[in-house]
Order: sequence, then structure tokens, then C-alpha cells
Amino acid sequence: MKRIISCLSCVLWFSALNFHGACGKITPSSPRSLLRLCSLQHSILRFARIALQRRAFLSGFEMTDTLLQVRDLTVGYRRGGTETSALAGATFRIDAGETVGLLGESGCGKSTTALALLRLLPGNGRIARGAVYFRGRGLLELGSREMERIRGAEISLVFQEPSIALNPVMRAGEQVAEVIRAHRTWGRRRCRSRAEDLLAAVRLDDVERVYGSFPHELSGGQKRRILIAQALACDPALVIADEPTTGLDSRTQTEILDLFLELKAHSRTAFLFISHDPGVFAGLADRLMVMYAGRIVEQGGLDQVYRTPLHPYTQGLLDSMPRTSGGALDTQRLCPIPGSPPDMSSLPPGCPFAPRCSERLDVCGAEEPPDAGWNGGRTVRCHARMGMECR
Ligand code: SF4
Repeated sequence: MKRIISCLSCVLWFSALNFHGACGKITPSSPRSLLRLCSLQHSILRFARIALQRRAFLSGFEMTDTLLQVRDLTVGYRRGGTETSALAGATFRIDAGETVGLLGESGCGKSTTALALLRLLPGNGRIARGAVYFRGRGLLELGSREMERIRGAEISLVFQEPSIALNPVMRAGEQVAEVIRAHRTWGRRRCRSRAEDLLAAVRLDDVERVYGSFPHELSGGQKRRILIAQALACDPALVIADEPTTGLDSRTQTEILDLFLELKAHSRTAFLFISHDPGVFAGLADRLMVMYAGRIVEQGGLDQVYRTPLHPYTQGLLDSMPRTSGGALDTQRLCPIPGSPPDMSSLPPGCPFAPRCSERLDVCGAEEPPDAGWNGGRTVRCHARMGMECR
């Protein structure tokens, strides 16, 4: 590739010279054609740089039915003249039709991951390094127009907070139809009909009434369903659902999870399902990634991770989950993780989980465990669990 680029550059620069056969002199072409050649050469070099980066990036992954590939994604937020890391080198992959869970306590970088993938970080957020490839296209290199075309149509996000995500002065059904209008060249009637079908598909009763209601006239569960209908409006290949059951009563939670199960069973859409609650992934996710202090500390098949959690943090999250014993809720065996997640602006040296870890070794306070990266199967980022990924 490098040789092709240098040959092309040479051809371009030779074509910028005029050869005068009679006197044997070589003179440069007009300034305008030189400028045009400069810009053409710049475009070729930019294209080549992206192609080389992409080739290097993809070489770490096996190409199967891969939809999204993320490598070394690192995000920081500027506050008061300093930048605080929120995501430190996340590397993962999502295949077409797959449901991947992202688990971790609040403030560990889950929502930042979702926002960074869609380039929707707030003004003080910055992607410091990394690469994101969706269907082979580098999302971080795309222009804002191209990115707008992808958002909602190919990748959509179910926002965590409906009261912020929904427009309070616009009727709920219109907010679904608006997404369709933004990405399709359909007439108003067809968009409305599709929006009504979507409201029915997310199991909202009395579609006519809900369509014409303002968000404040709907319950929390109904607003969540409107957000899910919006996310599905253009049949995206990937839906990112950020805490879609948080703040709902347990009955509505179960109904929303059932709805996702049904969507998963009847479509080729892939889901990145984000939650702080290990219980919501059961039966839903194919794979699970566990995140702590902006790092993916463990990933693997859901059953594998639940049956034999490797990282002490994953173990702690599962132990703090209520279980049933003889059909009744057993609260006696609840075993919460001591302490709280670290302040990301002043992480302790070594492993960020060390202050809360009951299995810490001497090395843990001095050296951070190496990034496990992605090996297509099970990974864990912990000094005490090195080499145990095959379990
Ligand atoms: S690296 Fe050490 S402190 Fe961190 S989770 Fe593993 S054992 Fe605990």
C-alpha cells in the first residue's frame, strides 16, 4: 500500500510539470493546476492513511459477521483546566444479531461508551484515542453529515432518561414519526402509519390516544416504550439501550425486558444493553462485558461469566444480587462490595479496584493489570487471575 501511494504521488507531481520538447526545458504548470494537484495529493494521502490505520486495526480481529469493532477507545472530560479519564482503552466487538450486555456500577463509563460510539459526547468530552468501525466504516473519521445519517437509521440509542430525551411540547407519536421522516423520503401519512405500527409493536395499548398524548400525560413505562419505538423506527442494525429499565417498578421492568426478548427473537438487530443490574441480562444477553473505572475488566459468554466469574469485581456484583431460595427472596445471603467506585480524577496507583478487593496481591497496589484486549472469547484484567481465561 505504501509503495502504491508513493508511486501515485510521483505521477501526480510529474504531471504538474510541462516538458518543452524543442528546448528540453521543464517548467511548472499554472498555479491553479498546482493547487488542484496539492489538494488531490492531500486527499490521496488522507485516504491512504485511513486505509493503513484500518488495515492495522482490523488485523487484530477475525472477520466474521462483525458489525461493530472498537479498539482502545479512550475518552476524557475537561473540568477546570484538567482532563479526567472516563474510558480507558475499551476494546470489544459486537456481531450482527448479537446481544451484548455492559455491566457496572454508576459512573464506571458505561454511558460514556454509548455516547462515544455515536459521537454524542457533551461539549467537554473528548475522544483522546482509539478506533470505532461500524460495518467497516471508521465512525471517528466520518463528517458530521454522514454521522447524522447513521444515527437513528443504522445505530440508535434508547436514552436513559425519557423526561430529557422526549420533547415535552411535541406529541409522543409525532416524535416517532419525526425520526422516520428524518431518514426516509416518505409522505406524512406513511410515516404516521409506520409510527402507529411501532407503538403497537412496543405493546402500547390504545395507540390512537398515546400517539396524540404529550410526554407528561404518559406513565414512565409508556415513555420508555416511546423511546424504544423511536430507536426501532428505521430498522437499525444496532440498538444501544442505556439502562432501559432503571427507575421503573418491577412489573414494568419485567414487561420491558420481555419486550426486548421478543425484539431479539424476531429481528437481526444487535443490541448493546447497558445496566448496573446483573439480573437484567439473564436470558437476554449472549455475551457480557464488565466495566470498572472506565476499563473492561472481564468479558465472555453470559453463562460462562455467571457460572464462573473470574474478576473479583464481577464476583462481588453477582454476590450482591438478591437470589431466591425455595421460591422466596433470600436477602440473608446478600453480600455487597465494600466501599464505592473511585473518583476518576484521582485513581489509586495500580489496580483501580484494589482498595475494595479482598484478593489483592502485593503487586496490585503498584501495577495496573495489563489490558486483556479482545481474544474472541473470555478475557479478564486481574493480576490474580492471569491465564485463567479459558475457564
Ligand atoms: S488485580 Fe489485584 S486488586 Fe485488582 S482485582 Fe485483581 S486481585 Fe484484586
